Amino acid sequence: MRQPDEALADCLRGLADTLRHHRDLGVEEIALSRIPFPDPGDALRGHERALAGCQRCKLAKSRSTIVFGSGTARARLMVVGEGPGEEEDRQGLPFVGRAGQLLTRMLAAKGVEFDRERDCYITNVVKCRPEKNRNPESDEVAACNPFLAAQIETIQPVVILALGNFAAQTLLNTKEGITRLRGKTYPYRSGVLVPTFHPAFLLRNPGESFKRMAWDDLKLARREHDRLTGAPHPAPLP
Ligand code: URA
Repeated sequence: MRQPDEALADCLRGLADTLRHHRDLGVEEIALSRIPFPDPGDALRGHERALAGCQRCKLAKSRSTIVFGSGTARARLMVVGEGPGEEEDRQGLPFVGRAGQLLTRMLAAKGVEFDRERDCYITNVVKCRPEKNRNPESDEVAACNPFLAAQIETIQPVVILALGNFAAQTLLNTKEGITRLRGKTYPYRSGVLVPTFHPAFLLRNPGESFKRMAWDDLKLARREHDRLTGAPHPAPLP
């Protein structure tokens, strides 16, 4: 596979050839747009501002905080859960409770090695906590969906790790259960989606076999990430 620096060198050589060709044709000046490349971090902050004080669905009544997402806007791996739990609702951050701590450890484990802040962007299908952690309802998902779509569009992750039935079924628009969906990749926009068990499910079902399957899924996500980014693993420090 071609390395990213070789692809960039080819691209720059092509640009230099084009500029030389224009110069030979007598072009003396090329006006560049004054619009800078949009910073995905700015774009994400804009989406988050648009959600401030949201009253689009009934979850507005039960939440304390809108939990938009955390991590880097330049992430190549996006992790999508169901909706904030109690601790997330208190702190305003996704996956910071017990399930979140397990997720953080699984992402960082040897052989996978994603740092949740530096390498990932983590969010949920719905951004407000459903009371008593019930499943979000379809009108709530529909109200929040433009924000999840905007996050995906802005970040353009190469791999989406969908945690649990709810995220996988919503993103893949299917009713198939996670046990059948997991273990494979699904084309998703310009990348792939990898479904796996929700860490809260793993906490409730501590048997070795679910843990092993989740571990296989995480390794699959890592391999897909490396294949699609051309990144060596583990990625060198910047
Ligand atoms: N469960 C989720 O689906 N999301 C969180 O952020 C926390 C727990």
